[in-house]
Amino acid sequence: MSSQAWINLAYLTASMLFIVAFKLMTGPRTAVKGNYLGAAGMAIAILAACFEKPVMQSVAAQGAWPLVMLGLAGVIGGVIGAVMAIKYPMTGMPQMVALLNGFGGAASTLVAGAELWNATAAAKAASAPLPAWTQFAIATALTGLIGAVTFWGSLVAFGKLEELPQFKKAWTDPNRHWINLGLAVTTLLLIWGVCANPSSNLLFWLLVIVGSALGCTLTMPIGGADMPVVICLLNSYSGLAAAAAGFVIDNSVLVIAGSLVGASGLILTAIMCQAMNRSLAGVLFGGLGTTAVANADDVYAGKVKSASAEEIAMVLEGAERVVIVPGYGLAVAQAQHAVRELANALEKRGTTVEYAIHPVAGRMPGHMNVLLAEADIPYEKLREMDDINPTFPETDVAIVIGANDVVNPAARTDPKSPIAGMPILDVDKAKTVVVVKRSLSPGFAGIPNPLFAADNTLMYFADGKKAILDLTAALSK
Ligand code: NDP
Repeated sequence: MSSQAWINLAYLTASMLFIVAFKLMTGPRTAVKGNYLGAAGMAIAILAACFEKPVMQSVAAQGAWPLVMLGLAGVIGGVIGAVMAIKYPMTGMPQMVALLNGFGGAASTLVAGAELWNATAAAKAASAPLPAWTQFAIATALTGLIGAVTFWGSLVAFGKLEELPQFKKAWTDPNRHWINLGLAVTTLLLIWGVCANPSSNLLFWLLVIVGSALGCTLTMPIGGADMPVVICLLNSYSGLAAAAAGFVIDNSVLVIAGSLVGASGLILTAIMCQAMNRSLAGVLFGGLGTTAVANADDVYAGKVKSASAEEIAMVLEGAERVVIVPGYGLAVAQAQHAVRELANALEKRGTTVEYAIHPVAGRMPGHMNVLLAEADIPYEKLREMDDINPTFPETDVAIVIGANDVVNPAARTDPKSPIAGMPILDVDKAKTVVVVKRSLSPGFAGIPNPLFAADNTLMYFADGKKAILDLTAALSK
């Protein structure tokens, strides 16, 4: 078998491992195994790429130096990845994913730029311009654009998720649609330019610069509760950029892996849009989070009732059915194990306990599922929003722990609210609602929540973990 055939076989094995890994990652029980298989596939693909013809030709011409460079790059990238994975807390995972998406886009753009540089240099040496409208020219232009949009869009998304003050407020310039339109038309013209005249590195880098601006201006207006959709979309873009880069360097595993990421990201984007009851165009061009926000004093003044652990324990003692509603604050407080203990204590008393999972609770898709799985909470007890919502009127107590936007009834009742129309968990319909959080401060969407002032709501102001431990102790007295 020729060496190229071995490389192709390795790529095929890596691609199969990616597909199996994706399948395993759809369930929390098998996700870790899926992650390992995906990493093994990536290791095989990287190793096989080191034996590609251009690498071997460089080794023949320059000795071991190219391999040393490859090894060094691998070690530096590996160390950065490992430090990030160890250093970032679970709550910072979405920001990290945003950064990694961005790096993927940047890498694809740089690969396309380097290939174009080499190709134009070779064409110059041969005094023959690169032919127009070839697979190489089209793929190079698309990689440059999608990679640049992904990189800068992901950096802005990182800033928003990290809640950096500069990014907290959505960009609401009334001319933003015109600016975006202008940038989009310019990118189309530049794509045409690169495809028609691929020997011009200048046009390619101009396309990258305009694409970078477009990545920022498309992401900056998107605010608050629409962020999950944007993250899924950027994830998909990073895959599409990698797939396009695969066509630039004729690398099948890059095309397959990139397409898998691109397609799964698009499916997730559609699921998120459905979960938020929003169209993709509405998210990208509507600017949720830019409408009027109610005044917190008007919503809360004189209406909020706070209770002690003992008072809430008394309500829980009489409850037959309790629904626990986790949100981002549960992840911050790392209260998942404490929550399981509270559920155990309630179940020992004969109370039925279930968990209500909102698709965008937390800061990444599946955040709450991962968190509760970490505490070995049985998967069967986790119920999706559409499934559990009709049961709230028969629920004695809904305990909301660190959730805010996903239980905000304003989405249902206030057409002017920035989250109007977003499906929420209807906890306000439970007989009693206990809300655990540290203050009346808003959630990610930055808006007050009338649930906290509702007649049937008791607030328990404390850190999520401490509050749940206190409740469990009071219940066991
Ligand atoms: P929210 O962000 O709406 O609210 C979280 C609440 O947790 C805050 O009000 C905060 O109140 C409370 N909190 C923080 N730390 C603690 C703590 N240690 N103990 C107790 N409470 C705490 O969370 P939700 O899960 O309800 O909603 C998710 C939001 O994030 C949605 O707007 C969603 O669109 C957005 N989003 C989701 C993504 C996803 O993919 N899932 C990605 C990006 C954004 P206080 O400070 O008073 O304690």
